[in-house]
Amino acid sequence: MASETSPANLPPGYMVRAAGEGKLGGVARPRVMTGGGNSAKQQPWPPRRPEKGAIVQPSSERLGFVRNPLLRHSAERDQDLERHAAHPDAVTVAIAGDIPILRKNGSAVTGLLPLADLERAGARHEQAFLGTAAERPVFGTLLEPAAADLFKSGAEHLAIDLRSIAVQGLLPPDELGIVAEAKALLFWHSRHRFCANCGAPTVLSCAGFRRDCAACKTQHFPRTDPVAIMLVHRGERCLLARQARFIANSYSCLAGFIEPGETIEDAVRRETFEETGIRVGAVRYMASQPWPFPSSLMIGCIGEALTEEITLDRDELEDGRWFAKDEVRRMLAREHPEGLITPPPMAIANFLMRSWAEA
Ligand SMILES: [Zn+2]
Repeated sequence: MASETSPANLPPGYMVRAAGEGKLGGVARPRVMTGGGNSAKQQPWPPRRPEKGAIVQPSSERLGFVRNPLLRHSAERDQDLERHAAHPDAVTVAIAGDIPILRKNGSAVTGLLPLADLERAGARHEQAFLGTAAERPVFGTLLEPAAADLFKSGAEHLAIDLRSIAVQGLLPPDELGIVAEAKALLFWHSRHRFCANCGAPTVLSCAGFRRDCAACKTQHFPRTDPVAIMLVHRGERCLLARQARFIANSYSCLAGFIEPGETIEDAVRRETFEETGIRVGAVRYMASQPWPFPSSLMIGCIGEALTEEITLDRDELEDGRWFAKDEVRRMLAREHPEGLITPPPMAIANFLMRSWAEA
């Protein structure tokens, strides 16, 4: 992957469309890809034999939140929401404040509740139509934070934060992606009740994928905050660091928000230099992961370091150093002699470390 950004250099599955393309039902927005775009289906078959020492990209499908079977934009194609709500199999993701409500389903658990379950929830703040999955309409409903207690008091439901749901693997991967989408979208509604342009109240429109201001006619669209996360390496060693808030002994990749007017590649270089003093040259895109805390998209890259001397930004990092490949393998396997560990397999940092260490 070349290090410069131009449409021709973007990796497979990384689609850019002009605004207005994919316009449906009067909503002029770049079309959103479904399914995460990292599907193994897009890899050449039979797979080409990698060059010796090349970084081989394993499937990123096991990451949390990346699988999402929803047919999106059905919201715009068909805004007959009453018909969807009347569908006998219609379901909803229910988020109380920022806590998903789950339903016990025999020995399994589901994040897709029958609409009738909302009757015990009290006031609804907002409801979005997320689309259809296997012909089944799927809504997302924002509830009062206190509704979590109403559900928890019964035997049929659970109320658990989304990070724990993902780490513990409580939901099927396809459902986890839908719940993540609902959480990010509903959070945006909860924080955009007033127009950023004129201050008047806004109302939900386009089945939940827009908010409109009646006073100044501005249309507001849900936001996603891009974050570059990078494994920076130099030969057989890679740069990992930890923040004081990390769990004990955990080291991870560097990461930071991409700024306006900045390419992904330059964000990788800037964040790495700011936090460690290391200069980065070539940058390669690997995979991305929705990260609904509250509404980020993690863009995973591997960068080649040009320098070795580390100068840590102590305001950001508690520690940071070079790790040998074998050491990273032991950390991934939870066999490091000093008990050092990596983030869990559901996180893209784990994926980047594994991609590099197992090459
Ligand atoms: Zn306004």
